[in-house]
Amino acid sequence: MAITFSFPCSNRSFITSSSSRRRFKFNLQSSSQLSPTTTLPLQTTSLPKTGVIVIGAGLAGLAAAIHLNSHNIPFLLLEASDAVGGRVRTDSVDGFLLDRGFQIFITAYPEAQKLLNYQSLDLQKFYSGARIFYNDEFHTVADPIRHFWDSARSLVNPVGSVVDKLLIGATRVQVLTKSDEEILSAEESTTIDLLQQIGFSDSIIGRFFRPFFGGIFFDRELETTSRLFNFIFKCLALGDNTLPAKGISAIPEQLASRLPSSSILFNSKVTSIDLVESESLTVTLQNGEVMTSELGVILAVEEPEAVKLLAGKGGTVQKTPVRSTACLYFKAGRDQIPVQDPVLFLNGSGKGIVNNMFFATNVAPSYGPPDKALVSVSLIGSYEGVPDKDLAARVVEELSGWFGEKTVRAWEHLRTYRVGFAQPNQRPPTNLWKSPKVGPGLYICGDYVISATFDGALVSGRRAAEALLKDKALARA
Ligand SMILES: Cc1cc2nc3c(=O)[nH]c(=O)nc-3n(C[C@H](O)[C@H](O)[C@H](O)COP(=O)(O)OP(=O)(O)OC[C@H]3O[C@@H](n4cnc5c(N)ncnc54)[C@H](O)[C@@H]3O)c2cc1C
Repeated sequence: MAITFSFPCSNRSFITSSSSRRRFKFNLQSSSQLSPTTTLPLQTTSLPKTGVIVIGAGLAGLAAAIHLNSHNIPFLLLEASDAVGGRVRTDSVDGFLLDRGFQIFITAYPEAQKLLNYQSLDLQKFYSGARIFYNDEFHTVADPIRHFWDSARSLVNPVGSVVDKLLIGATRVQVLTKSDEEILSAEESTTIDLLQQIGFSDSIIGRFFRPFFGGIFFDRELETTSRLFNFIFKCLALGDNTLPAKGISAIPEQLASRLPSSSILFNSKVTSIDLVESESLTVTLQNGEVMTSELGVILAVEEPEAVKLLAGKGGTVQKTPVRSTACLYFKAGRDQIPVQDPVLFLNGSGKGIVNNMFFATNVAPSYGPPDKALVSVSLIGSYEGVPDKDLAARVVEELSGWFGEKTVRAWEHLRTYRVGFAQPNQRPPTNLWKSPKVGPGLYICGDYVISATFDGALVSGRRAAEALLKDKALARA
């Protein structure tokens, strides 16, 4: 028999027994203020009475939950950690906002445009281009549409030939003529093969594309699929690179604010998903608690965790190596940094461990106290085994060669984030439009089933919810 539980707030103190099997009953209601326990009349007599369990409150899980919520389908979102966001989190440390790894929000992401309120994110823009450290000097690469004169001046710099810069323009036109669906399902190669096939010189590939797209994919070899390269290239052409004023976590927080607070349970790690009684799925939590959902389960966890939970269920095969990164933060006086402009610096020298860096407070002053600057430095690979102190010392030494020893030695190391699983490996062959259904009532979503971007995660969450609703014939016409 079904038992109805009451979740007074977003913690999991409601779970009292560690071994019982419970069926969580969700009553359907017509209001958007959905709660797993509110009793209201059913919309149709054929609707099942139990709701959906969504596992993982990253962007994919939140998008799935928003879609279910918008169709008045009751759901419960189980999150292993203490907050929403997954890989998109921000910590507040000594008055600084530290994103857990360098992340950029591109305003042209199509699904994000539908789901997010950009105005309240108070997006702070980067300069549209980059400054490249090469041959002991900085060289600017600029977007010709937004910074025409910078771009014209950069035509003759040694980052690439004039032909290379014209080819960038031609590539831009080419991607803009295609739909996202066409791009994500087009014939594919590795990004490096595509760049060589377009005719880019080794100079611009090594000095610009490797650090720039290598930094986006955490893959300096540029083995990532050309589909992802073209998708990101198109979004970069159409939108701005930004940071929300309150940190990157403002994005998932805004999504979560659209859900009933009682629908998200934190510190609720799922350890297994099992099929019982034909189409009923049970979800077991780390503490032994078992929940049942007759409508279905949407698994929205990161790829390595999905591989574990789906073992033997024909779920997903993980490509290796996965993409990892380390991000080091330093603080400095606002007068102790060499530039005040919101520009991304790239390492085009082919030497050293720094891939890219920027002065976060130049982009978003809210990332630090008024008189302080926040320096963010990104490496590709997580450098496990190298102590934080040694890693920070190597970075300081390297950047001293960029900005001068006196300047960089004055910076104080704040924190290092190492992200072992930053992104799935998306080298060809890829299927960026995988079916979300993996079994009866069981659906997957996340950046590993689509493009490994914020936008991909959001789309995949929606698609998983749509597939579930369609299978259960719950979607409104
Ligand atoms: C450092 C870094 C920089 C990035 N930069 C960019 C960028 O600039 N632009 C861009 O578009 N993308 C970027 N990405 C990629 C982007 O962040 C991801 O593609 C996206 O956030 C993935 O969302 P997701 O919901 O698929 O997975 P996740 O964010 O990993 O969410 C999965 C959630 O599931 C939870 N979970 C896991 N296991 C369990 C379990 N057993 N039970 C319950 N809950 C569980 C996790 O705690 C987590 O909250 C970056 C990623 C990183 C790490």
